[in-house]
Amino acid sequence: MGKLALFGGTPVRREPLPYGRQAISDEDIALVVETLRSDWLTGGPRVDGFERAFAEFVGAEHAVAVSSGTAALHAAVFAAGIGPGDEALSTPLTFSATTNVLLHVGATPVFSDVEGERLGLDPSLLEARINERTKALMPVDYAGHPADLEALGALAQAHGLVVIEDASHSLGARVGGRQVGSIADLTTFSFHPVKHLACGEGGMITTADPELAERMRRFRNHGLSSAARTRAGWSYDLVELGLNYRLTDIAAALGTSQIARLEANVARRREIAAAYDDAFAAQPELVRLVEHPDRPSSWHLYPLRLQLPGGQDEWIAALRTEGIGANVHYRAVNELTLYRQRGYDPAETPVAQAASHQLVSLPMFHAMTDQDVADSVAAVRKLVEHYLG
Ligand SMILES: *Cc1c(COP(=O)(O)O)cnc(C)c1O
Repeated sequence: MGKLALFGGTPVRREPLPYGRQAISDEDIALVVETLRSDWLTGGPRVDGFERAFAEFVGAEHAVAVSSGTAALHAAVFAAGIGPGDEALSTPLTFSATTNVLLHVGATPVFSDVEGERLGLDPSLLEARINERTKALMPVDYAGHPADLEALGALAQAHGLVVIEDASHSLGARVGGRQVGSIADLTTFSFHPVKHLACGEGGMITTADPELAERMRRFRNHGLSSAARTRAGWSYDLVELGLNYRLTDIAAALGTSQIARLEANVARRREIAAAYDDAFAAQPELVRLVEHPDRPSSWHLYPLRLQLPGGQDEWIAALRTEGIGANVHYRAVNELTLYRQRGYDPAETPVAQAASHQLVSLPMFHAMTDQDVADSVAAVRKLVEHYLG
């Protein structure tokens, strides 16, 4: 197979393959251009239309569009009434935005460890961390594999907690036949270009609760009362402290147009994951995520835990030199400087801590060709051959 390019061999490919990227069609572009020529660049009908189409796709009562996945998490935490003195349980294996929003509202993130198969919150460890200050469970559907929402929902019900599901990875995934976005009290999505649906920047929260939806609509618009806004042309009132987290009609048009291809894009991602699974199944040093039979993943990421010599820095450098845009998702949040400074210790979540230093995400996006997948597999094989001979 040849020497690793990192050590002077010939790379698998010249054109670098990113780990994720958007796919924009002519129809997407046409709808954006049409919106640019319309009367509304923000606060207009494209935003309402995007919310309706998204709610319909996931089977939710209400969908509230915001300017990013982070804004979606912030709005959800705000709407749930989480504030100073409150705690919420979450996973360290996530992008830091999930728990940063708790810090923003003055609440305390409490990290609980993940299970070994899909690296989602381990429900059996949560109860011991629940106390009278606990207000919410914040699972993350890691890599696109839905969290164990049934177990988490039962726990939440028993302790009077709200479930805020960070579904930034799992648009199009299902739990027992139900779409993610129709299950938890609040579900948040991100429309960053590497996610299943790309707005440039954008986010959405879905809920069945009309009051939570109304609170999030106020929060994204400074906290202005919408009742006052609609009564008379000029009159308005500020009833709580919000932000400008509005999505533009331009971004909403881009998102709306892509909903039509979402199902096909998720199917393509599942095909790519199956090809990777086949290629790596016989190699025990490449530990794959195991899909739950009742919770099919929408595969935002394809992470492997490598049990090889060398170490994460060298694996990533070696794959990138082969032209394969490998990445790490994630360094455990409780290992990051800001969190360490606040007293967190990654040793409290040993499964996440160990995984964090073994994880390597391979390229995974719906526009990947079969040749891209084969290149990515070839680069991993070179890595295995280098270390195991
Ligand atoms: C992408 C992502 C976010 C943040 O979304 P943005 O749209 O970038 O603000 C939050 N949580 C997770 C798990 C993500 O992957």
